[in-house]
Amino acid sequence: MTQAECGGALYHWRPMSRTVSDSDRCPCTSGESFGECCGPLLAGTRRAATAQALMRSRFTAFAVGDAAYLLASWHPATRPRELDLDESLDWYRLDIHAAGGGTPFEKTGEVTFTAHYRVDGERAKLREHSRFERVDVEWKYLDAL
Ligand SMILES: [Zn+2]
Repeated sequence: MTQAECGGALYHWRPMSRTVSDSDRCPCTSGESFGECCGPLLAGTRRAATAQALMRSRFTAFAVGDAAYLLASWHPATRPRELDLDESLDWYRLDIHAAGGGTPFEKTGEVTFTAHYRVDGERAKLREHSRFERVDVEWKYLDAL
């Protein structure tokens, strides 16, 4: 399969650029194994219970190059038609500073974080305040403030 349909928009599906096994440490640096943390979310066998869990899984998707998961976890109102990941970026650490709302009993949530990456041997970071919204039972990434 080279293309998948998602909310009427076509996007190009590419295999993960980095393979992580269940026993490896999760790329989101939670300290848990991939199989207990973001792995089941990326595989679609478990839903993110909170906005923060979705945020972590999206960082992991950036780290392993899973564009299909990034698109699937994007809010339909703001989701781009396609996503080309910059494979020269090596996302290696996530720090979550604050999370508000985003529990299974709420409709919206916000997470402030710093995502650390390496590019051309240099360390860099991105600080973002992201907003999430629950669509039915699934948390989706809405936008960044
Ligand atoms: Zn994780």
